[in-house]
Amino acid sequence: MQLLDGKSCSQQIRQEIAQRVAEIKATGSRVPHLAAVLVGNDGASETYVAFKVKDCQEVGFDSTLIRMDENISEQELLDKIGELNADDSIDGFIVQLPLPAHIDENKVILAIDPKKDVDGFCPENVGNLILGLPTYVSATPNGIMELLRRYQIETEGKHCVVLGRSNIVGTPMAILMSRKSNPGNATVTIAHSRTKNLAALCRSADILIVAIGKTEFVTADMVKDGAVVIDVGQTRVRDSSKKSGFRMVGDVDFDKVKDKCSYITYVTGGVGPMTRASLLQNTLKAHSRL
Ligand code: NAP
Repeated sequence: MQLLDGKSCSQQIRQEIAQRVAEIKATGSRVPHLAAVLVGNDGASETYVAFKVKDCQEVGFDSTLIRMDENISEQELLDKIGELNADDSIDGFIVQLPLPAHIDENKVILAIDPKKDVDGFCPENVGNLILGLPTYVSATPNGIMELLRRYQIETEGKHCVVLGRSNIVGTPMAILMSRKSNPGNATVTIAHSRTKNLAALCRSADILIVAIGKTEFVTADMVKDGAVVIDVGQTRVRDSSKKSGFRMVGDVDFDKVKDKCSYITYVTGGVGPMTRASLLQNTLKAHSRL
């Protein structure tokens, strides 16, 4: 079994981006600028946004964090998005999800200028992804593709089972793996909560990508010998032995599954860091389109 080390891969990507930023600076041009909108004080969202700001600093991007109160109206948020769309000093921005229940997430996503939608959630960018046109690919599936590419994992002709069909992970992941590309060219099955005989289906996977948000759901009996297993799941579980009071648990029972795999990701050092690096790649892309 070999670990797919997202931490070191993402570090490599950051170095490449930092190098590019140094070249941009040397020409006297403005450096890439990412803005993040955070509504409310959800603990996990605070952490994710703080990482995004820190990542920008590390590679030399400008970053702006816009905090909005939990009780702002939907219209106030839409107005802020309008401002960011019109602000030429900002290349791309994200609105951290989930939003408070009184705000319609779809309306918010639709309001973002697709050219600045570095999360790749807008219909235009998702449509471009399906058509194989240049686009911002949602950060998590993009990071997984990059991990497979950098480890030269053979995907052509393989059976890839994607467990989970969310708009931001499962569905774009399945599209990318089925595309005529390398990595890609896989035969893909999307599974979800209504799928029958899930264990047998997972066992038929050469590549199993799990994004369901159910802790340690995938057990050893669900994995084929020699499979490549990518665990996207990260759920905060209370743990008083940790300084933070919690630990992150994946969707795969790592200890029991790892010895069956040819390659596997580990929850905090796999997909998470690759997702963060992908957002930086998308922001750089947004900057170079100016
Ligand atoms: P989501 O929107 O909640 O979607 C979950 C998907 O899993 C749905 O398609 C659901 O099926 C399916 N599902 C739920 N329970 C299932 C079961 N028992 N059997 C089969 N399928 C089941 O979740 P998401 O946003 O894609 O996130 C999934 C996980 O990935 C979460 O733990 C999240 O924190 C993590 N995540 C990690 C990163 C990262 O950077 N590492 C990024 C994004 C997300 P239905 O459609 O039928 O309901």
